[in-house]
Amino acid sequence: MRLPELCLVALVGISGSGKSTFARRHFTPTQVLSSDAFRAMVADDENDQSASSDAFEALHFVAGKRLRAGRLTVVDATNVQAHARQAIVQVAREHDVLPVAIVLDVPEEECWARTQARPDRDFGRPVLARQARDLRRSLKQLAKEGFRQVHVLRGTAAIDAFELGYEK
Ligand code: ATP
Ligand code: MG
Repeated sequence: MRLPELCLVALVGISGSGKSTFARRHFTPTQVLSSDAFRAMVADDENDQSASSDAFEALHFVAGKRLRAGRLTVVDATNVQAHARQAIVQVAREHDVLPVAIVLDVPEEECWARTQARPDRDFGRPVLARQARDLRRSLKQLAKEGFRQVHVLRGTAAIDAFELGYEK
């Protein structure tokens, strides 16, 4: 996979699919804007869902500042809902930068097993099931939403084999 040197990357995947792990492996820490970090910034709690609206407003603001300065930026959030992705496409367009989607499509069972082993996550199976439903729906819509590249990595093996390059 080759990304434009300047783009806004939306990671897309249900909780536990490995978005933050993937981001750490392929991007520098300052390139990655995570919804968890922004929830913590505005509400002292990365899991406080009631802070999501303020957290995403702040995240999109910072993304815009980075794009204006010509800096590749990655949004590490589930992005399984169309409205979340629409906001990302809009920020990219406002700054004449290409929006790119990278989907981590990992079976719900596997993600649930990982989630139960995590001390930093405490939500029920129905939450994950809903995300998985939203993701299924999303896979059909992504290309129509304005993303210039859509990369779907199916399964952990494909994710682990992934190598990132940049267009010349
Ligand atoms: P969330 O949406 O809740 O932030 P996430 O998509 O960012 O989840 P990670 O935090 O990256 O998911 O990973 C969740 C768990 O799965 C972690 O314990 C991590 O070690 C494990 N994990 C992530 N990627 C892989 C992988 N490629 N192979 C095996 N385990 C993985
Ligand atoms: Mg994460």
